Amino acid sequence: MNNYDVIIVGAGPGGMTAALYTQRANLKTLMLEKAAPGGKMMTTYEVENYTGLGKVTGFEISEKMFNHTQELGVEYKYGDVTKIIDLGDYKEIHTASGEIYKTKAVIIGTGTIPRGTDAPGETRLTGRGVSWCAICDGAFFKDLDIVVVGGGNSAIEEATYLSKIVKHITVVNILETLQADARAVEEAKATNKMDFLLGYEIVSFNGDQQLKSVTIRHAKTKETQEIMAEGAFVFIGQIPETEFIKDLGITDKWGYIEVNAKMATKVPGIYGIGDVLDKELRQIITAASDGSIAAVEASKYINELNKKLS
Ligand SMILES: Cc1cc2nc3c(=O)[nH]c(=O)nc-3n(C[C@H](O)[C@H](O)[C@H](O)COP(=O)(O)OP(=O)(O)OC[C@H]3O[C@@H](n4cnc5c(N)ncnc54)[C@H](O)[C@@H]3O)c2cc1C
Repeated sequence: MNNYDVIIVGAGPGGMTAALYTQRANLKTLMLEKAAPGGKMMTTYEVENYTGLGKVTGFEISEKMFNHTQELGVEYKYGDVTKIIDLGDYKEIHTASGEIYKTKAVIIGTGTIPRGTDAPGETRLTGRGVSWCAICDGAFFKDLDIVVVGGGNSAIEEATYLSKIVKHITVVNILETLQADARAVEEAKATNKMDFLLGYEIVSFNGDQQLKSVTIRHAKTKETQEIMAEGAFVFIGQIPETEFIKDLGITDKWGYIEVNAKMATKVPGIYGIGDVLDKELRQIITAASDGSIAAVEASKYINELNKKLS
């Protein structure tokens, strides 16, 4: 019962696209997800760079993609994958709740989790003013002052979203320029609700039960200052979710999966897609593209394997 042609680990845009393609190739497909289908799209307010969709919320695009997989009959189950064992022609997928699935090919699209600043107070005050998700927690900071840490597209776009809720935002970025694209920066500045403190690092998140302030230090002058803020949102990059496959030897020293142009890892039958890869551009559209390529390659691999096994 637990035997599949392909198991897809992670139902972000990469995994859901891979599932569409393997299902349409008539492969017995299972998609395993430990949270909700959609991945990071579920915690993104608005997306306006997925071709053909115009401006949609992260929830809408997640729902559209998931419904598409369900219309095609993709089997979807909750599963927190804790281990993948390579047995050559078959792989075993183990989950936290004890299920073991057998499959000929695996496509791993487990994405990333947010990177922290490691500053004192950050962990202790997470959920007490410190947050990683504007769409999840933004409403708690209505008409309050907040800090947004980071200067890339995620930080600036999420700050623009938060500006509709909060009173004022201080954006603190370690670099002396913002890395976000010009359009995102323009939109952020047009809100007239943000100050930008560039070239500063976070020293500490302060407060007893709740965040009260954030101390920052200029990277060059070492001058410190305390910004009074009830909320702080941290968007300074991501860490790959690959702890569960570290024994397979398919990740680099930072934990990103290494693949070739066909999304194949060095273990036959195991593919990596999306943000979990060592790649230049981590976006919904590039994750989806990786998913389609991996699915087609997995399909070819399974055809060859079936010939060998018959
Ligand atoms: C704040 C923010 C805003 C963004 N805005 C945009 C935007 O406007 N446009 C754009 O194109 N991109 C945007 N991105 C980037 C985009 O969200 C990602 O590039 C994309 O979601 C990556 O898709 P993925 O399928 O690789 O992984 P993810 O979306 O990260 O999904 C991975 C899934 O795998 C699951 N998973 C992880 N480990 C396991 C496990 N062990 N077992 C089972 N399931 C597991 C996770 O729960 C998750 O659902 C944004 C990102 C952030 C953080």
